[in-house]
Parts: sequence; structure tokens; C-alpha cells
Amino acid sequence: MPEKADIPRSVAVVGAGQSAAVAARTLRRRGFTGAVTLIGDEPYAPYQRPPLSKEILDGSQTADGAVLLSEDWCRDNDIVLRLGAAARRIDTAARAVELADGSRVPADRVLLATGARARRLPGVPDDERIVHLRGMADALRLRELLRPGGRVVIVGAGFVGSEVASSALARGATPVVLEQAQVPLAGVLGPRIGAFCADVQRTSGVELHTGETVSHVHTTPETVVVTTRSGLEVAGDAVVVAVGALPNTEVARASGLSVSNGVLVDEHGRTSVPGVYAAGDVACHKHPLYERCVRVEHFDNANKQAMVAAKNIIGRAAVHGEPHWFWSDQFGLNLQHCGDPHAWDRLVVRGSLAERDFIAFYLSEGVLKAAFAAERGGDVYAAKELIARGARPDPDRLADEDTDLTDLMEHAEPVGDAAGTGGN
Ligand SMILES: Cc1cc2nc3c(=O)[nH]c(=O)nc-3n(C[C@H](O)[C@H](O)[C@H](O)COP(=O)(O)OP(=O)(O)OC[C@H]3O[C@@H](n4cnc5c(N)ncnc54)[C@H](O)[C@@H]3O)c2cc1C
Repeated sequence: MPEKADIPRSVAVVGAGQSAAVAARTLRRRGFTGAVTLIGDEPYAPYQRPPLSKEILDGSQTADGAVLLSEDWCRDNDIVLRLGAAARRIDTAARAVELADGSRVPADRVLLATGARARRLPGVPDDERIVHLRGMADALRLRELLRPGGRVVIVGAGFVGSEVASSALARGATPVVLEQAQVPLAGVLGPRIGAFCADVQRTSGVELHTGETVSHVHTTPETVVVTTRSGLEVAGDAVVVAVGALPNTEVARASGLSVSNGVLVDEHGRTSVPGVYAAGDVACHKHPLYERCVRVEHFDNANKQAMVAAKNIIGRAAVHGEPHWFWSDQFGLNLQHCGDPHAWDRLVVRGSLAERDFIAFYLSEGVLKAAFAAERGGDVYAAKELIARGARPDPDRLADEDTDLTDLMEHAEPVGDAAGTGGN
């Protein structure tokens, strides 16, 4: 799509979720007065997904409480919501987005914010009682299936699976979790912190089976039965498949964009096609801090990338280069993680795993790369700063409760553009 130096007259956002909402708000707050259309295939105005496995599932929040952009706000701010409308491709030559119903939305610039979908297990039948949790409709259906005295089988002990187990307990149902790894989350957080997560589940009342790979799921009129390769057979009123997510790249592929584990974007959110941007779970981002293309499925990243893309769309140079950050609420604990968990050679713990009050630091060749904490949001905030600065903190001082983490920032400078979501 030819990109003119001037401000676009129209912006279309494909997808009407977290990134779309933040982009629309940013465009208007930054004074963009042209046409803004959000095209979303769900029937709902943009809403937050984190409560789907937490407050909405345990019943402490209604669907309305998760709304990000209400239809009234959109009307008042002249944002057109095309809901229940799937986009098919971007016609870059004609500056328009083609919808599945054959209609077209004019777009001088396009933001792809199609998110991700829940990964499915092969051979799992279609049944109302088997839930792949991604959208509001899935959460509302699952909430009805979680009945006091009932039993739910959850495949996968990652963050979403654990949160569903926690919500099931809150509703009085028994969660049975089947996890393929010997230690949940060990691949990301290491065996020690993975064992901590398993312990939290078991002591909270979850029936956790590790080292169990699902081989078969079948339904009877009364129950859904999950069988594992070892021969374990577990029946429940419902089954939740929580085995990760895959980026929704169909529109990008149909539009000729470069795609590899998501839509490839630079640090400004620009795709390989001029005038087309991408943000959120669908985007594989050339992150200045990690010096490689990274795709993450985190609320904060979706917000930051959407903000940066919206600013760039209206000609304000901005970069997203902060360390990633996410949280998970489960079993009465607030867990938080920041940084890149993939390459580390040393783990340093401050606090007590037994008391569920700690922060674990992940270092690689002396450089702090990531941190994971239970009930220590403030420490994670400081760790994020240290990571952004490429700090090489003394491990003894990291472990020492009496050392203020902010003191370790001395002599640590921001790495490249990693200091924040820059741009005005
Ligand atoms: C159950 C659950 C719990 C979560 N909990 C946390 C948490 O605790 N902490 C955290 O940091 N993150 C959490 N997340 C992740 C966070 O919600 C996502 O990172 C965030 O929603 C990503 O925003 P997005 O805009 O990229 O995608 P989404 O919010 O998924 O929005 C994408 C939208 O695009 C639509 N779409 C797709 N294709 C098309 C098309 N062709 N045409 C039109 N529309 C289309 C989709 O249906 C969807 O509505 C959770 C996610 C889930 C599912």
C-alpha cells in the first residue's frame, strides 16, 4: 500500500479485541480525526480476555465488567464498530479491507490485530462440554459447566489451565489437571519454580497428574472421558483444552504479508507491506532488547504494541522496546513475570518459596534476563527496570532482602531503545 507522508484519512483495524481498543483510543487521544473502523468477527464490543479464566469464570465479574470500549464510547468518538464481521484480506492497491460478506472498508492504513486462537488437540470431538477457552462465549459456556460438586478435566497446567482450575475450585467443582511435562512450566520457569507451581495446585485441591499425554477424548451422554497414553482414564462434566494458542495469520497471508510464527513487524509495528501494521498476539516483533523476533501473548504487550502502531500510523515515530511483563491470579496468589525466560544459566531466589512470597531472578552469563514472583509486584517492577538496563547485579545482593533492588540500578544503562514505549 503506498504510504503517503501525510496523515491518513482512514484507518481500519482488523480484529476488535485488546490491541484494537487501545489503538482506537490512542488515535483519538492523539487528535486523529479521520475515519476509524474496527472489524471484529465476535459479536461483542472490544473486551478484556484476562478475566475469562478468572473473575468471569468464578462468577465474581459479569461480562459487562470486561468491556474495553463500549458501543456508546465508540459512537461518541466516531469509531465505527463492524461486529460479527470477518475480514478476508487487505486490498493494498485499492486501500480497502475486504470482508467475508463481500463488503469493503476503506483504509489508507490498516492495523492487523487478529490475536490468536486456542490450540486444539487432534481428534478431540466437537461437543458443547469441551471448551477451548479464548473468547467471551467460551467463558460463559464454561461457567455454566462448572457446577458445585462437579468435575472438570483440564488439559494443560500452564497459566490459563491453572487459572481455570483455580476458578473451578471457587465454584465448588473439582479440577483434574493433566499435564504432559513431568513438572508444569519447567520448560519456561525451570524445575524449581515449576515444582512450586505444582505444589500450589496440589495443596489448593487440584488433582494434578503430570507426565500424562492425552491420547483420546470421547463423549457419552453423561460425561466426557479423557484417556492418556499411560492408560489413565478421567471422566468429567466438562473438559477444558488449555494447550497454548496459535496466531490468527489468515488475513496476513491472504494479503501477502511476511509471516513466520506470526506477522513479522519491526519495532515500530510496521509489517513487510507499507501502510499495514500489526500488534498484539498475532505480531512477531523485532524486539530491540532481545535482538530477535518475539511473539508473546500478554495483555501489556498488546497494549504497548497497539499504542506504538497507532502513533506511527499518524506519523509520530514510536518504538516498543520494553521487557515483556504479565501477571496471573490463581489460588489466591498474584504471580508476575517479566523479561525473556528462554536463555538463563543461574537462578537466584529472594524470599521464601515455602511461604509463597518470593522473587526468582534468571541470569545469563551474569546479566539479568527475567524474573518471576509470587506476591511481589513491586520487586518485579524493579526487576523490569534492571532488565531494560542490561544490569549485571551481584547475585548475593539480589538474594539479600535488605538490599533495595533499585540500588542495583547504579552503573546500569538502558540498552538501545529498550527504555520504553517512546515517541510522542
Ligand atoms: C483466557 C485468557 C486469559 C488471559 N489472561 C491473561 C493474564 O492474566 N495476563 C496477561 O498478561 N495476558 C492474559 N491473556 C492474554 C491477553 O488477553 C492477550 O494477550 C490479548 O487479548 C491480546 O490482544 P489482541 O488484540 O492481540 O487479541 P485479542 O484480544 O484476542 O483480539 C483479537 C480479535 O480479533 C478477532 N479476529 C480474528 N480474526 C479476525 C478476522 N479475520 N476478522 C475480524 N476479526 C478477527 C478475534 O476473534 C478477536 O476478537 C489471557 C488470554 C486468555 C485467552
